[in-house]
Amino acid sequence: MRRKLVAGNWKMHGLRAQLGEVEAIAAATAQHAAVDVALCLPFTLIAPAAALGTQLPIGAQDVHANDQGAHTGCVSAPMLVEAGATLTIVGHSERRADQHETDAQVKAKAEAGRRAGLDVILCIGETLGERDAGRAEEIVTGQVVASLPDGAGGDWLALAYEPVWAIGTGRTPTEADVAAMHGAIRAKLRALVGDEADAIRILYGGSVNAGNAAALLGCTDVDGALVGGASLTAEKFVPIVAAGAAL
Ligand code: PEP
Repeated sequence: MRRKLVAGNWKMHGLRAQLGEVEAIAAATAQHAAVDVALCLPFTLIAPAAALGTQLPIGAQDVHANDQGAHTGCVSAPMLVEAGATLTIVGHSERRADQHETDAQVKAKAEAGRRAGLDVILCIGETLGERDAGRAEEIVTGQVVASLPDGAGGDWLALAYEPVWAIGTGRTPTEADVAAMHGAIRAKLRALVGDEADAIRILYGGSVNAGNAAALLGCTDVDGALVGGASLTAEKFVPIVAAGAAL
Protein backbone atom coordinates (compact mmCIF):
# COMPACT_ATOMS: atom_id res chain seq x y z
CA MET A 1 0.00 0.00 0.00
CA ARG A 2 1.55 3.32 -1.07
CA ARG A 3 1.22 6.30 1.27
CA LYS A 4 -0.25 9.34 -0.41
CA LEU A 5 2.08 12.29 -1.05
CA VAL A 6 0.79 15.84 -1.41
CA ALA A 7 3.56 18.16 -2.57
CA GLY A 8 3.34 21.90 -3.13
CA ASN A 9 5.20 23.69 -5.92
CA TRP A 10 5.59 27.39 -5.16
CA LYS A 11 7.11 28.08 -8.62
CA MET A 12 8.66 31.60 -8.75
CA HIS A 13 6.70 32.83 -5.75
CA GLY A 14 7.90 33.53 -2.24
CA LEU A 15 10.16 35.89 -0.34
CA ARG A 16 11.28 35.56 3.28
CA ALA A 17 8.06 37.32 4.23
CA GLN A 18 6.25 34.11 3.26
CA LEU A 19 8.21 31.88 5.66
CA GLY A 20 5.36 32.30 8.12
CA GLU A 21 3.15 30.52 5.58
CA VAL A 22 5.66 27.64 5.43
CA GLU A 23 5.49 27.40 9.22
CA ALA A 24 1.70 27.47 9.20
CA ILE A 25 1.59 24.73 6.56
CA ALA A 26 4.09 22.64 8.54
CA ALA A 27 2.13 22.99 11.76
CA ALA A 28 -1.27 22.23 10.24
CA THR A 29 -0.23 19.36 7.99
CA ALA A 30 1.62 17.66 10.87
CA GLN A 31 -1.88 16.87 12.16
CA HIS A 32 -2.47 14.67 9.09
CA ALA A 33 0.09 11.95 9.67
CA ALA A 34 -1.61 9.55 7.23
CA VAL A 35 -0.29 11.61 4.30
CA ASP A 36 3.26 12.58 3.31
CA VAL A 37 3.55 16.31 2.64
CA ALA A 38 6.35 18.41 1.12
CA LEU A 39 6.88 21.93 -0.20
CA CYS A 40 9.08 22.64 -3.23
CA LEU A 41 10.27 26.22 -2.88
CA PRO A 42 12.36 28.67 -4.90
CA PHE A 43 16.11 28.00 -4.40
CA THR A 44 16.44 31.14 -2.29
CA LEU A 45 13.91 29.96 0.29
CA ILE A 46 15.21 26.41 0.77
CA ALA A 47 17.84 27.17 3.42
CA PRO A 48 15.70 29.59 5.44
CA ALA A 49 12.70 27.23 5.28
CA ALA A 50 14.83 24.26 6.36
CA ALA A 51 16.24 26.38 9.19
CA LEU A 52 12.75 26.78 10.64
CA GLY A 53 13.33 23.29 12.04
CA THR A 54 9.88 21.92 11.26
CA GLN A 55 9.30 18.30 10.20
CA LEU A 56 8.00 19.42 6.79
CA PRO A 57 10.28 18.18 3.96
CA ILE A 58 11.56 21.08 1.86
CA GLY A 59 12.37 20.55 -1.80
CA ALA A 60 13.62 22.29 -4.92
CA GLN A 61 11.87 22.70 -8.26
CA ASP A 62 14.84 21.78 -10.45
CA VAL A 63 18.39 20.46 -10.18
CA HIS A 64 21.37 20.32 -12.54
CA ALA A 65 22.43 16.94 -13.90
CA ASN A 66 26.07 17.49 -12.87
CA ASP A 67 27.34 17.67 -9.31
CA GLN A 68 29.58 20.67 -10.06
CA GLY A 69 31.14 22.49 -13.00
CA ALA A 70 31.02 25.47 -15.31
CA HIS A 71 27.24 25.92 -15.44
CA THR A 72 26.52 29.54 -14.65
CA GLY A 73 23.36 30.10 -12.69
CA CYS A 74 22.63 26.43 -12.05
CA VAL A 75 22.32 24.56 -8.75
CA SER A 76 23.51 20.99 -8.17
CA ALA A 77 22.01 18.24 -6.05
CA PRO A 78 24.81 18.31 -3.42
CA MET A 79 24.18 22.08 -3.09
CA LEU A 80 20.47 21.41 -2.52
CA VAL A 81 21.25 18.82 0.13
CA GLU A 82 23.59 21.24 1.89
CA ALA A 83 20.86 23.89 1.83
CA GLY A 84 18.50 21.47 3.57
CA ALA A 85 16.42 20.08 0.70
CA THR A 86 15.32 16.46 0.84
CA LEU A 87 13.61 16.29 -2.55
CA THR A 88 13.41 17.95 -5.93
CA ILE A 89 11.00 18.23 -8.81
CA VAL A 90 12.44 17.51 -12.27
CA GLY A 91 10.93 17.90 -15.73
CA HIS A 92 8.10 20.28 -14.83
CA SER A 93 6.27 21.21 -18.05
CA GLU A 94 7.09 24.89 -17.50
CA ARG A 95 10.79 24.00 -17.62
CA ARG A 96 10.29 21.63 -20.56
CA ALA A 97 8.63 24.54 -22.40
CA ASP A 98 10.64 27.55 -21.16
CA GLN A 99 14.08 25.92 -20.90
CA HIS A 100 13.51 23.35 -23.65
CA GLU A 101 14.39 20.46 -21.34
CA THR A 102 14.38 17.07 -23.03
CA ASP A 103 13.45 13.67 -21.60
CA ALA A 104 17.14 12.72 -21.60
CA GLN A 105 18.01 15.79 -19.54
CA VAL A 106 15.13 15.12 -17.15
CA LYS A 107 16.39 11.54 -16.68
CA ALA A 108 19.91 12.80 -15.94
CA LYS A 109 18.54 15.33 -13.44
CA ALA A 110 16.53 12.63 -11.65
CA GLU A 111 19.64 10.45 -11.45
CA ALA A 112 21.67 13.38 -10.08
CA GLY A 113 19.07 13.97 -7.40
CA ARG A 114 19.06 10.32 -6.40
CA ARG A 115 22.90 10.22 -6.32
CA ALA A 116 22.85 12.96 -3.71
CA GLY A 117 20.14 11.27 -1.67
CA LEU A 118 17.21 13.44 -2.75
CA ASP A 119 13.72 12.12 -3.37
CA VAL A 120 12.53 12.99 -6.87
CA ILE A 121 9.19 14.04 -8.34
CA LEU A 122 9.42 13.59 -12.12
CA CYS A 123 6.74 15.39 -14.14
CA ILE A 124 5.15 14.13 -17.34
CA GLY A 125 2.05 15.22 -19.24
CA GLU A 126 0.54 15.92 -22.62
CA THR A 127 -0.41 19.23 -24.25
CA LEU A 128 -3.98 20.00 -25.25
CA GLY A 129 -3.11 19.50 -28.91
CA GLU A 130 -1.71 16.06 -28.16
CA ARG A 131 -4.84 15.12 -26.19
CA ASP A 132 -7.16 16.42 -28.89
CA ALA A 133 -5.22 14.37 -31.43
CA GLY A 134 -5.86 11.23 -29.34
CA ARG A 135 -2.16 10.89 -28.53
CA ALA A 136 -2.17 11.62 -24.78
CA GLU A 137 -1.37 8.09 -23.61
CA GLU A 138 1.28 7.55 -26.27
CA ILE A 139 2.99 10.86 -25.35
CA VAL A 140 2.89 10.31 -21.60
CA THR A 141 4.02 6.68 -21.61
CA GLY A 142 6.73 7.70 -24.08
CA GLN A 143 7.93 10.28 -21.54
CA VAL A 144 7.99 7.55 -18.88
CA VAL A 145 10.17 5.35 -21.07
CA ALA A 146 12.55 8.16 -22.04
CA SER A 147 12.90 9.94 -18.70
CA LEU A 148 12.70 7.18 -16.08
CA PRO A 149 15.99 7.26 -14.14
CA ASP A 150 18.24 4.20 -14.00
CA GLY A 151 17.59 2.39 -10.72
CA ALA A 152 13.95 3.50 -10.59
CA GLY A 153 12.04 1.66 -7.90
CA GLY A 154 11.31 2.49 -4.30
CA ASP A 155 9.47 5.35 -2.70
CA TRP A 156 12.24 7.91 -3.40
CA LEU A 157 10.71 8.36 -6.86
CA ALA A 158 7.27 9.73 -7.71
CA LEU A 159 5.94 10.47 -11.16
CA ALA A 160 3.58 13.44 -11.42
CA TYR A 161 1.07 13.19 -14.25
CA GLU A 162 0.34 16.82 -15.08
CA PRO A 163 -1.64 17.51 -18.24
CA VAL A 164 -0.08 20.74 -19.49
CA TRP A 165 -3.51 22.20 -20.28
CA ALA A 166 -4.65 21.66 -16.67
CA ILE A 167 -1.79 23.54 -15.02
CA GLY A 168 -2.88 26.88 -13.64
CA THR A 169 -6.00 26.93 -15.81
CA GLY A 170 -8.73 25.75 -13.45
CA ARG A 171 -9.45 22.91 -15.88
CA THR A 172 -9.04 19.27 -14.88
CA PRO A 173 -9.46 15.98 -16.73
CA THR A 174 -12.44 13.81 -15.85
CA GLU A 175 -11.90 11.31 -13.06
CA ALA A 176 -12.19 8.56 -15.67
CA ASP A 177 -9.43 10.16 -17.75
CA VAL A 178 -7.19 10.53 -14.70
CA ALA A 179 -7.72 6.90 -13.69
CA ALA A 180 -7.12 5.69 -17.26
CA MET A 181 -3.86 7.62 -17.58
CA HIS A 182 -2.57 6.59 -14.16
CA GLY A 183 -3.39 2.97 -15.02
CA ALA A 184 -1.45 3.29 -18.26
CA ILE A 185 1.53 4.83 -16.44
CA ARG A 186 1.47 2.08 -13.79
CA ALA A 187 1.35 -0.60 -16.50
CA LYS A 188 4.29 1.00 -18.32
CA LEU A 189 6.28 1.18 -15.07
CA ARG A 190 5.64 -2.51 -14.43
CA ALA A 191 6.76 -3.35 -17.95
CA LEU A 192 9.96 -1.37 -17.41
CA VAL A 193 11.00 -2.28 -13.85
CA GLY A 194 8.73 -5.16 -12.80
CA ASP A 195 7.82 -5.37 -9.12
CA GLU A 196 10.07 -2.38 -8.37
CA ALA A 197 7.25 -0.31 -9.87
CA ASP A 198 4.98 -1.05 -6.93
CA ALA A 199 6.64 1.48 -4.62
CA ILE A 200 6.75 4.32 -7.17
CA ARG A 201 3.99 6.82 -6.46
CA ILE A 202 2.02 8.40 -9.30
CA LEU A 203 0.74 11.86 -8.38
CA TYR A 204 -1.84 13.90 -10.25
CA GLY A 205 -1.15 17.61 -10.84
CA GLY A 206 -3.10 20.39 -12.53
CA SER A 207 -5.53 22.81 -10.86
CA VAL A 208 -5.98 20.73 -7.71
CA ASN A 209 -7.86 22.72 -5.07
CA ALA A 210 -9.85 22.18 -1.90
CA GLY A 211 -13.03 21.60 -3.93
CA ASN A 212 -11.75 18.86 -6.24
CA ALA A 213 -9.01 17.26 -4.12
CA ALA A 214 -11.10 14.45 -2.66
CA ALA A 215 -12.36 13.36 -6.08
CA LEU A 216 -8.95 13.55 -7.77
CA LEU A 217 -7.03 11.95 -4.91
CA GLY A 218 -9.67 9.23 -4.75
CA CYS A 219 -9.22 8.14 -8.37
CA THR A 220 -7.87 4.65 -8.95
CA ASP A 221 -4.06 4.57 -9.09
CA VAL A 222 -3.68 8.17 -7.82
CA ASP A 223 -1.09 8.21 -5.03
CA GLY A 224 -1.14 11.91 -4.28
CA ALA A 225 -1.02 15.35 -5.82
CA LEU A 226 1.42 18.00 -7.00
CA VAL A 227 -0.19 21.35 -6.25
CA GLY A 228 0.86 24.72 -7.64
CA GLY A 229 -1.25 27.80 -6.98
CA ALA A 230 -3.22 26.28 -4.12
CA SER A 231 -0.04 25.43 -2.20
CA LEU A 232 0.95 29.05 -1.58
CA THR A 233 -1.09 29.49 1.58
CA ALA A 234 -2.01 27.25 4.48
CA GLU A 235 -5.63 28.27 3.99
CA LYS A 236 -5.74 26.72 0.51
CA PHE A 237 -3.20 23.91 0.90
CA VAL A 238 -4.15 22.31 4.21
CA PRO A 239 -7.67 21.27 3.08
CA ILE A 240 -6.10 19.41 0.15
CA VAL A 241 -3.83 17.51 2.54
CA ALA A 242 -6.81 16.86 4.81
CA ALA A 243 -8.77 15.46 1.85
CA GLY A 244 -5.93 13.03 1.16
CA ALA A 245 -5.76 11.99 4.79
CA ALA A 246 -9.51 11.32 4.91
CA LEU A 247 -9.41 8.76 2.09
C1 PEP B 1 2.11 22.68 -10.86
O1 PEP B 1 2.75 23.71 -10.82
O2 PEP B 1 2.71 21.61 -10.91
C2 PEP B 1 0.65 22.74 -10.87
C3 PEP B 1 -0.01 21.62 -10.93
O3 PEP B 1 0.08 23.98 -10.81
P1 PEP B 1 -1.47 24.31 -10.48
O4 PEP B 1 -1.85 23.46 -9.30
O5 PEP B 1 -1.48 25.77 -10.17
O6 PEP B 1 -2.27 23.96 -11.69
